[in-house]
Amino acid sequence: MKKESICVQGGWQPTKGEPRQVPIYQSTTFKYDSSEQMARLFDLEESGYFYTRLQNPTNDAVAAKIAALEGGVGCVLTSSGQAANFFAVFNICEAGDHLITSNNIYGGTFNLFGVTMRKMGIECTFVDPEWSDERIEAEFRPNTKCFFGETISNPGCTVFDIERFAKMAHRHGVPLLVDNTFATPINCHPFEWGADIVVHSTTKYMDGHAAQVGGAIVDSGNFDWEAHADKFPGLCAPDESYHGLTYTKAFGKMAYITKCTAQLMRDLGAVPSPQNTFILNLGLESLHLRVAQHCRNAKALAEFLKGDERVAWVRYSDLEGDKYHALQQKYLPNGSCGVVAFGLKGSREDAIRFMDSLKLISIVTHVADARSCVLHPASHTHRQLSDEQLRAAGVDPSLIRLSVGIEDVDDLLADLKQALALI
Ligand SMILES: *Cc1c(COP(=O)(O)O)cnc(C)c1O
Repeated sequence: MKKESICVQGGWQPTKGEPRQVPIYQSTTFKYDSSEQMARLFDLEESGYFYTRLQNPTNDAVAAKIAALEGGVGCVLTSSGQAANFFAVFNICEAGDHLITSNNIYGGTFNLFGVTMRKMGIECTFVDPEWSDERIEAEFRPNTKCFFGETISNPGCTVFDIERFAKMAHRHGVPLLVDNTFATPINCHPFEWGADIVVHSTTKYMDGHAAQVGGAIVDSGNFDWEAHADKFPGLCAPDESYHGLTYTKAFGKMAYITKCTAQLMRDLGAVPSPQNTFILNLGLESLHLRVAQHCRNAKALAEFLKGDERVAWVRYSDLEGDKYHALQQKYLPNGSCGVVAFGLKGSREDAIRFMDSLKLISIVTHVADARSCVLHPASHTHRQLSDEQLRAAGVDPSLIRLSVGIEDVDDLLADLKQALALI
């Protein structure tokens, strides 16, 4: 199936008499006839459902759709994008380990890696993707376990050179993890460029209606853990909490995803409710249509902003002349996403007056939604950071993040124009 068909029909193929729509298995548990049968499930000798924290048929059907959309071998859904990023890294890193990340990443991920995981004994080095290969490669250590970046960064809207960083990570025997939330699998397939693991906040375009918070981790199945067995004992050495089972030996290409479910989900429990997963799936059914309209609208608004004298700068990689246009044409030839970053001339107060004057476009702590919205990271999501820290996180203090929805483009343009006229 092509990706448009996967959006609509992937993951759930009912047979005779089964519901056409993915059913919501709103049940914590599943019944078996003998204790022996249950025991085989607990020992991972047989696959089947027994408790929703580990696996649930609704979650599995939608995970299979997302795996197919990304071209991966397996997917696990989580209760948020934050949980997905945490699990994706924690599945291969433990106390005493180290990871490297692009500094152009979402603020929540910046805190997760830089503050919270540090408290767990996992160190993180933030690098500027603009640095030379030599300078970035100098940051790899013997205990480095992965490299992380966002295809299109939130909120900076920079484009990550996936192929370059995949090659670099592989030279050092570690996988590349890519957060593909903004691009979605409609516009970019990171696995085709060498990424090994893809993560998503499904809260954004995949849902698209601001109706549920969720996340997903997809494995390409391509990284050869056994070739670097000393680096990844969690996958390549016996797991004492599963009677000495070794994930790579027992599950091959499914080792990473199986460990993520069987160990991390079992012990940490950030599982989405089947009800939310059902809502996510409704969003996925129209993802291909919405993403195209988001991109059309965003390009028109970005072009308008670029030509307005009150606007200091615009970052939208689909604009000719944008610093990231060449990378966008390589990785996202059909369009980037609906998010435009720009700055106004004038003060922070002017930016605030502009946003407060918008009518159709609302101020919300959200992004990648059918409804257009706007946010000023320096006064909202990143308030706790100084201007200097903002810049270190790849966020210009003047940056306004405009998330362009799927409304009529002329209505959106009219709203921008009337608000600009007031500053
Ligand atoms: C929103 C977002 C996250 C976090 O996802 P939640 O679902 O809000 O927990 C992670 N990465 C990116 C790129 C995001 O936009």
